[in-house]
Amino acid sequence: MTAPRIAVIGAGLAGLACARALAARGARSRLFDKGRAAGGRLATRRAEAAGQALQFDHGAQYLTARSAAFAALLAEAGAQPWGEPGRFVGAPGMSALPRALARGLDLAAGRHVTALAGRPGAWMVRHLDAALVRPGMPLPPDPPAEEGPFEAVAIALPPDQAAPLVAPQAPAWPGLLAGVRLAPCWTVMAAFAARLPLPDSLRPALGSPDGGAIGWAARDNSKPGRPAAECWVVQGSPAWSRAHLEQTPAEVMPALLAALGALAGTDLPAPIHAAAHRWRYSLVEAPLGRPCLHDPGLRLGLAGDWCLAGRAEAAFESGLALADALLP
Ligand SMILES: Cc1cc2nc3c(=O)[nH]c(=O)nc-3n(C[C@H](O)[C@H](O)[C@H](O)COP(=O)(O)OP(=O)(O)OC[C@H]3O[C@@H](n4cnc5c(N)ncnc54)[C@H](O)[C@@H]3O)c2cc1C
Repeated sequence: MTAPRIAVIGAGLAGLACARALAARGARSRLFDKGRAAGGRLATRRAEAAGQALQFDHGAQYLTARSAAFAALLAEAGAQPWGEPGRFVGAPGMSALPRALARGLDLAAGRHVTALAGRPGAWMVRHLDAALVRPGMPLPPDPPAEEGPFEAVAIALPPDQAAPLVAPQAPAWPGLLAGVRLAPCWTVMAAFAARLPLPDSLRPALGSPDGGAIGWAARDNSKPGRPAAECWVVQGSPAWSRAHLEQTPAEVMPALLAALGALAGTDLPAPIHAAAHRWRYSLVEAPLGRPCLHDPGLRLGLAGDWCLAGRAEAAFESGLALADALLP
């Protein structure tokens, strides 16, 4: 019997966990991701200023493991302890974790999946060069590449991105996805010439001196294996990020840095580097409440942290659950 060929769309932690579990069962899985590499929200941004290397984990800050299986995965991927006991990070950056987990998998990176065609048991995946696709704009007219046939498809994308792909095949699913909610998160990455008078991480309480603007801030260079330069990741709280969602980086950066200064009790020096990233989907606020969605007749399923909870371990669990459903 030939090994089943399965497409996994999305190479964040959920897609990686799913593809690895499918491969362990003898399937040939092919991963597609619009990013330049695997990882999704487990992400690291690098830059340079004043001749110094800078680095920021601008997505997930640290991972925790409740299950032995996730702890084993983190150890396999080379995660290192950081900060309070039980917190782990990738080294030399968070993105090292998904890159380690993607090793040996068949990944088509930089491909934006636009549609599923074909039929159950013989699905075709249509995808475009991700560089041609602009967020919020109509898809370009270029004819997509088409790959397949795949016996089954696992879609491991945030719900708003998954819904249009599955709507033609599984019209009931977009309604279920509409009940799921993820918080946005404006994230500022700033480097300074000297150390700021702040602890390595802060999670300000509501009503704190920053007025509730900041949900979390951390000195990235306090994590293991990072460059020495003073690099800060400052995340807007969900309420603040939602209220300022359509502002520009130029508006968001000074606001969050002023809020960080308020927490430090001093005006901050001008950063030697500053950038901002808007995550439209960061932490899950209202999950689906099931480990994954799967239709055995369609040979199609959905996974992601949003199925269960707002932490990376939930993405891992959901990806495994979908692999179990697709290849019991
Ligand atoms: C700012 C922020 C802070 C966080 N902090 C923490 C934390 O401290 N601890 C923690 O445990 N978790 C944290 N999280 C959550 C954690 O990052 C996620 O739970 C986890 O990474 C989700 O994995 P996933 O595979 O479900 O989704 P994702 O990582 O979002 O993966 C989805 C993938 O799909 C790809 N994709 C999307 N659309 C398409 C398409 N059409 N075609 C092809 N590919 C596509 C994307 O490029 C992405 O790689 C944080 C997240 C953010 C954003």
